[in-house]
Amino acid sequence: FPVRMDDGTVKVFHGFRVQHNSVRGPGKGGIRYHPEVTLDETRALAALMTLKCSVLNLPYGGAKGGVICDPATMSLGELERLTRRYTVEIAPLIGPDTDIPAPDIGTNARVMAWVMDTYSKLKGYGCPAIVTGKPIEIGGSKGRLEATGRGCLINARSIMAHLGKELKGSVVAVQGFGNVGSVTARLLARDGCKVIGITDVFGGIYSEGGLDVEEVNRHCQQTGSVVGFPGSQSLNNAELLALKCDLLVPAASGNQIHATNASAVKASVVLEAANAPTTPEADEILRDKNILVVPDILANSGGVVVSYFEWVQGRQSFFWTEEEVNSQLERAMHAAFQDVLQTSVQRNMSLREAAYSVAVQRIATALDFRGIFP
Ligand code: GLU
Repeated sequence: FPVRMDDGTVKVFHGFRVQHNSVRGPGKGGIRYHPEVTLDETRALAALMTLKCSVLNLPYGGAKGGVICDPATMSLGELERLTRRYTVEIAPLIGPDTDIPAPDIGTNARVMAWVMDTYSKLKGYGCPAIVTGKPIEIGGSKGRLEATGRGCLINARSIMAHLGKELKGSVVAVQGFGNVGSVTARLLARDGCKVIGITDVFGGIYSEGGLDVEEVNRHCQQTGSVVGFPGSQSLNNAELLALKCDLLVPAASGNQIHATNASAVKASVVLEAANAPTTPEADEILRDKNILVVPDILANSGGVVVSYFEWVQGRQSFFWTEEEVNSQLERAMHAAFQDVLQTSVQRNMSLREAAYSVAVQRIATALDFRGIFP
């Protein structure tokens, strides 16, 4: 689809929206703006959304969207025009009862507001339930912005309790300091964890005694990166992934832990805050090393859980307090963690296999009841 750029030229962008499965409900999943977006990746991410919504028992299927672009190099006006035209192109596919987009890498509440406004203008009336992750001022939910990070914290507590360890005092390394990584790191630090390493796209920082994550966040807001945080040593991504720690949190993009670097991982637990950060080969290597992996579809599901709450609140035009949102999030995450853990113990499976098993079973049962039409 064409977009008029600030310099007057017209640039043609490629975008996708994939609906993977709708047996349990309408498609649900984010929109990604990144130079490396592909149709194949979007398909895989849509499939992960189907499984994620099922493992959390949300009445949704799975979908995902993406546009090949580099939002970091685009002006606000260019991003708005790109978003509005992409929305027009996918408008026949999406809908509050068919497929509900949300933010993902490279998109945010502001982008969702443009999607919502464009879709509403096409329909002729306001349609807040067309997207989740909107600004609170136009029907977003309290707690949505922090929800993915908060979900990671809840899972970190659960996995440590399962191992008979205290989360307080645990040593943590976090890859990525965007919406997910920064909130996860801050909440873990508030819970008494020692965050020794953080990386972002520009580089990374290390402190043996632990970083002051709130200060790192302030530094990042001022300078645009964690790099150069006063009192820290610098470290690269490979070094971060190889840090000796209790909890390694990959919260950046996909395929970060792969066949060639997985054997260097020295964490006790990998908490997959990103989608698909571990390749299947790396997964096996981690398993051989007895490293527990809390899989993405469980670990990072806090975002879509609160997306569901946002959708429900919007449809009822009745909005909850932040305490209500967070306590419902906690309830949903605990239930899912227990379902997965129980399956993993009973069937002697990894947590990832158990999460897939729980998810696929629910989808299969739903399909069985619904049957085949006609
Ligand atoms: N993009 C997020 C994810 O991968 C959120 C999706 C949503 O809220 O629909 O889970």
